[in-house]
Amino acid sequence: MFDNLTQKLSQSFRNLRGQGRLSEDNIRDALRDVRMALLEADVALPVVKDFIQAVRERALGEEVTRSLTPGQVFIKIVHDELVALMGATNDRLDLQVRPPAVILLAGLQGSGKTTTAAKLALWLTEREKKRVLLVSTDVYRPAAMDQLRNLGRDIGVEVFPSDPSQAPLTIARDALAEAQRKVMDVLIVDTAGRLHVDEEMMREAKDLAAVVQPAELLFVVDAMTGQDAVNTAKAFDAALPLTGVILTKADGDARGGAALSIRAVTGKPIKFIGVGEKVRKGLEPFHPDRMASRILG
Ligand code: GDP
Repeated sequence: MFDNLTQKLSQSFRNLRGQGRLSEDNIRDALRDVRMALLEADVALPVVKDFIQAVRERALGEEVTRSLTPGQVFIKIVHDELVALMGATNDRLDLQVRPPAVILLAGLQGSGKTTTAAKLALWLTEREKKRVLLVSTDVYRPAAMDQLRNLGRDIGVEVFPSDPSQAPLTIARDALAEAQRKVMDVLIVDTAGRLHVDEEMMREAKDLAAVVQPAELLFVVDAMTGQDAVNTAKAFDAALPLTGVILTKADGDARGGAALSIRAVTGKPIKFIGVGEKVRKGLEPFHPDRMASRILG
């Protein structure tokens, strides 16, 4: 997703062998390379600035031990700061509530919500042995309801029957009652998305959250949408009590900077990444250290 930054950084340090410390002078080019790489990857400018500042502060005066080259020392600092920026730990779903634990998915249309709902359902049934019920409250797009029904059938997870003639809140309430009656562990609620952030969508998501009291309210966002992803994340985070983020389409090779920006801008952990269209194998827990290594190439 990024050009090979490690290679570039090693290049800018090639003349520095034998120096005892990193200095403002000898990290200037390397910092510029990092800055360029992050901007090219669509990381938001304020995030890039803060990041460069953090790396500069740590690098200055850093001692270069005999076993490492200045380049290696610098690259390790960048790696550590990337991990710190994205959250040092792999944040798992927190479903420690009286069952059924509700997971509410919110995001724009096309972000991958419905696919992600099915991926999560499969993940929870297969990996965590949970009993899961899926439901769609997207009454504006009957096709979305059909899509979830079909995905549920494919993966063998029950989908609560909902109908476009019903109110989203009624569907959510009924699905929750059904999940309680059937002693399900988890209810995953797929919500309607629109093409752009709008008040009505936010109000509906807020009302749904009030009704189902989700253990996890996850913002689903397309990693390929670059700066738009950051702006959308800000709007959703301001309007809803998000608990985390799922970054979809992280298998695409461009604009992976969304992972950095969204975490920095919302402060909410990225819990999973979507890595393919297929429901099976298309979802992975987010590992900041792996993403940092991938960014460094
Ligand atoms: P929704 O409108 O938010 O419910 O989005 P959908 O679930 O219908 O997904 C929109 C499109 O994105 C579909 O073509 C999905 O197959 C695709 N998609 C979803 N997640 C991923 C992903 O992680 N990687 C890739 N490559 N495509 C994805």
